Amino acid sequence: MRDSFLPFSPPLICKEEIDEVVDTLRSDWIATGPKVKLFELEFASYVGAPAALAVSSGTHAMQIALAALGIGPGDEVISTPMTFCATIHVIEQAGAVPVLVDVEQDTLNIDPNKIEQAITSKTKALMPVHLYGHPCDMNGILSIAEDRNLCVIEDAAHAVSAKHKGRMVGNLGTMTAFSFYATKNLTTAEGGMLTGDLEGIDNARIWSLHGMSRDAYNRYGNDVSWYYEVVLPGFKCNMTDIQASLGIHQLRKLEGFQKRRRDIANQYFQALSQIPEIELPTEREGIESAWQLFVIRLHLDRLTIDRNRFIQEMKALNIGTSVHFIPIHIHPYYRDKYNYRPNDFPVAHNNYLRLVSLPINLRMSNQDVDDVIEAVHDVTTHYRR
Ligand SMILES: *Cc1c(COP(=O)(O)O)cnc(C)c1O
Repeated sequence: MRDSFLPFSPPLICKEEIDEVVDTLRSDWIATGPKVKLFELEFASYVGAPAALAVSSGTHAMQIALAALGIGPGDEVISTPMTFCATIHVIEQAGAVPVLVDVEQDTLNIDPNKIEQAITSKTKALMPVHLYGHPCDMNGILSIAEDRNLCVIEDAAHAVSAKHKGRMVGNLGTMTAFSFYATKNLTTAEGGMLTGDLEGIDNARIWSLHGMSRDAYNRYGNDVSWYYEVVLPGFKCNMTDIQASLGIHQLRKLEGFQKRRRDIANQYFQALSQIPEIELPTEREGIESAWQLFVIRLHLDRLTIDRNRFIQEMKALNIGTSVHFIPIHIHPYYRDKYNYRPNDFPVAHNNYLRLVSLPINLRMSNQDVDDVIEAVHDVTTHYRR
């Protein structure tokens, strides 16, 4: 057993990021300036999107997307119970109604076969979540959206660099929201990015900065630099150059980061595939997961302990693990407001009881990976039925 605790998901920040932040702090621009612009351009080009808007969080990226697409009271948005609460919160905050659809057994992503029956005359958008970094079945989702004239706003908080049939996540749906929170594959401490077409991102940019439009400024020319018009009751969620300083360098290193994540995932696959008490994650044909999370599922019928106890036992062996996610419909707010019962979404709920996220991050050494593998071996062997 290792003698120090292995944290679940610490960030990796190096000299280039730190130097860039210091350079920004010594400059005249610390809020939204040239480094945000550069980060947006490089990010759009990386994912192959026409345009990108840097914002203060992944949550705000989704919130701005809903506003820019005109989704609000009277509208319904279809999403998944197997996500972080933020995905569904932004629908509620927009005054729209979230309509949940159960997930696929293998990927735990929203099941396109169950979307049709949830569509009503009020449905305006689909909000799939690329859970754990594995892209949703976008062929299925996009074809439904096209048939029914719906927007597709992707929660790609886990899926920066993920590929779907050769295409990068970020240029698939109407708009895509990324998170750069501290635990994500690319981090700016807090931050996010919204990608989409030029018109959509222009509109989203106005929503992200008080609803202020500079079009009039451009019409009048530089001598009236003080002039702007407020055209919307906008939000305030622009990214700062301090955050972009981190993002620019994290993005340039991302391919290397991803190689290492995949390498850790492969070590887990090799070492854990022989353990009958656990099920390993899926990576479907034609998919490249971003491996934001490596989530195993316990075969509870083969163990004498439940998932919670499994996590305690891992912790006793100095390994930090977690659960992603507690399904939306069992949280008190949503449970009570929409009268959900656990088995309304049986695939999400049954799997929730079995989920354990193992550490997968750039700070782990191969020894750390081996320690996790050994701990999983020890716990499953000890509590084998
Ligand atoms: C992290 C996360 C978010 C929220 O991103 P923030 O940048 O923290 O606002 C949204 N959805 C999912 C699935 C996430 O994991």
